[in-house]
Amino acid sequence: MFLTRLEIQGFKTFAKRTQLSFLPPSPLHPPSGRGEIRFPITAIVGPNGSGKSNLADAIRWVLGEQSLKLLRGKKSEDVIFSGSEGKGRAGFAEVALTFNNEDHAMPIDYTQVTIVRRLYRDGTSEYLLNEGQVRLADIHLLLAQANVGQRSYSVIGQGMIDHILVSSPEERKAFFDDATGVKPYQIKRHEAMLKLERTHENLKDVEMLLREIEPRLRSLKRQASRLEQRGEIETELHRLEADYYGAQWWELVGQMKQSKERFEQAVQKIKDERNELTRLEKETERVEKAESGEDTELVAMQETYRATQKKREEIRSHVFETEKAIEMARVKAQSNWAPLPLLQIIAEVDEVVKVAKVVKGLKTVEEIQTIIDDLLVKSTGLRKKLERPNPEDIKPDPALVKKLKDFRDQEGALKQELEKMETAIDVHLGKEKTARTELIETQRTLREKQTHIHLLENQSNTLQIELARFEEREHALIREMDEFMKERAVKVRTEEPPLAKGRSGGVLEHTYEEIQRARYKLELIGGIDPEIMKEYGDTKERHEFLDGQFQDLTKALADTEKIIEELDEQIEKQSKAVFAKINKEFDRYFKLLFGGGSCQLMKLTREEVDEAEKVDEVEKGEEDKPLSKHKDPIVGVDIQATPPGKKLKALNLLSGGERALTSIALISAIMAVNPAPFVVLDEVDAALDESNTIRFAAILDELSRSSQFIIITHNRATMEKADVLYGVTMGEEGVSNLLSVHLEELTQNGTARR
Ligand code: ATP
Repeated sequence: MFLTRLEIQGFKTFAKRTQLSFLPPSPLHPPSGRGEIRFPITAIVGPNGSGKSNLADAIRWVLGEQSLKLLRGKKSEDVIFSGSEGKGRAGFAEVALTFNNEDHAMPIDYTQVTIVRRLYRDGTSEYLLNEGQVRLADIHLLLAQANVGQRSYSVIGQGMIDHILVSSPEERKAFFDDATGVKPYQIKRHEAMLKLERTHENLKDVEMLLREIEPRLRSLKRQASRLEQRGEIETELHRLEADYYGAQWWELVGQMKQSKERFEQAVQKIKDERNELTRLEKETERVEKAESGEDTELVAMQETYRATQKKREEIRSHVFETEKAIEMARVKAQSNWAPLPLLQIIAEVDEVVKVAKVVKGLKTVEEIQTIIDDLLVKSTGLRKKLERPNPEDIKPDPALVKKLKDFRDQEGALKQELEKMETAIDVHLGKEKTARTELIETQRTLREKQTHIHLLENQSNTLQIELARFEEREHALIREMDEFMKERAVKVRTEEPPLAKGRSGGVLEHTYEEIQRARYKLELIGGIDPEIMKEYGDTKERHEFLDGQFQDLTKALADTEKIIEELDEQIEKQSKAVFAKINKEFDRYFKLLFGGGSCQLMKLTREEVDEAEKVDEVEKGEEDKPLSKHKDPIVGVDIQATPPGKKLKALNLLSGGERALTSIALISAIMAVNPAPFVVLDEVDAALDESNTIRFAAILDELSRSSQFIIITHNRATMEKADVLYGVTMGEEGVSNLLSVHLEELTQNGTARR
């Protein structure tokens, strides 16, 4: 790779568009036999202040230099032509540097690469790479990959040759990083470090979010698992309820069917018997009429008897109605009983336990007696509340009981009366026994029929009560089922579940206990907001997402750390090898330039640098940053130089010329070991005496086999080594002009070609 062209416009004194061409390399003359080439040396000459150094600045600038100091300005727009008496100021500065990249030293496809930097007065600036806009970082990386050390030695400015000697060990370290060719790795390493820091930050954020979300997630998880548990218990409860109520319901349905049938049969039988009774009554009446004749007394007795009998029937039906009412009241009272809620039972048991505990602290018998009485009252009360009442224990309404007693008394009295009447009628008829046999017979049959009907009616009444009881039970069961089973109740009542068949009371009791247990568990779990499930899902999803990110970031962190480690290894390896070679070459060039003496480069650790600079503790603390384990242990470079016949090694004791020679030896060593594609040297030979200038020129000649040199000089010996001379002049307008001078032409014609 080498420079082919420099174009400048509006940059410092180069107000007009100005172009410099550079010659391509040519075979070494005379040939070395190893196919070596030589890069023509370009010298730039001209009077003081004509703008020669501005050309060096232009190259430095287009390569991306950001230091205003190195660009010899105070603000960035100082590089734009500021105008002169005869010429107005420029609106922008532009420098274009073109490279031949046929060897692809810059790892891009182009064989010719033009880098352009442009700056406008409003501060906007741009970098172009073959006309495409790029970032400064891209330019830096590309140049570093082509081994152009833009900051340190590719452009060595006027008076900057001994800059390396006066700079601090850390600044020198940067210079040698350039020189050892590890810059591209360092740029990559820097980017990796930035990524590492960003990843660390992101990881911290994600960790914080995870820490924030975790307690909520745990609480939600607990609630969600309770909700799941609740669901399981509910399913089991529903199954138990379906079993329990289904069994009762279908047993009741069977019982009611039977009871209804028996009742209907009884009613039918009564109906039949009553028909028979009516027939018998008619028969009796007929016989009575036929046989009583004119016996008015008997007729009157029989009428009274029938009337009394009718009355007794009425009273009997009252007795039945009242008995039924009492029975139904009992059934109702029992079916209305509902167990206490479990939590209330627990509270009441606690209350009893509390009272019992008091006994411990009591001394006198009376006190104990009082507490025991209290206990008995409380526990009996609780027991009453808990037990389903026995129908016999339910006290019927006293008004109804009294009514029943009155009706029964009346019925008893009427029965006695009727018995008396029967005897009286029998006695009356007995007087004419033979004649009235048929009548007596008929009347007895009639009475027997009545007694039988009465018996049947009693049975039918019992059945009716039983049926009413079943109906009441049915209503109570429907109420209970609807309350506990809601819409599931209907299904249980319409479809007979297979399990419900043949359930015995014991099994049902066990099922009921299980139901109670399940309900108790549900009461303990309590109600849970179904929204919790949604929130749990969302929170879990977010947690999983963050956790995934956490894993990714942790992996990225490890990957980046590995990359950094690998880069560090590469940097260290290359730096070590190249540094040793530079050290050797430095000594060789030093001896060549000084005609003897010795010199040495030394790598310094943090401690050594601190020792050398006596850095106080506060500044040292700065190093203790989290990612410091990735820092290069070598932080500085020291230079020792002892010219021949001298003992001192300190650089600041060298003369101006000695310093220039030492610097030239060092630059030359670097060029020899790790040649940069091109080097701009601005009056580096200014302080050299004549014999040293000749040595310097010889070294230049040697190094031009591997690097392209552009030299700004006032020195004749140096000019003589040049293949192309550019003359810079400044006209009255304060604008630099360029003359191209071919040396052969100059010697032949004595004139310069413009
Ligand atoms: P020497 O041989 O003395 O080193 P030189 O040829 O290297 O001189 P330069 O340093 O390149 O000269 O040029 C300096 C001149 O450029 C100064 O006169 C300075 O005023 C001028 N100059 C610098 N920046 C600008 C600018 N933005 N606009 C116009 N002139 C500028």
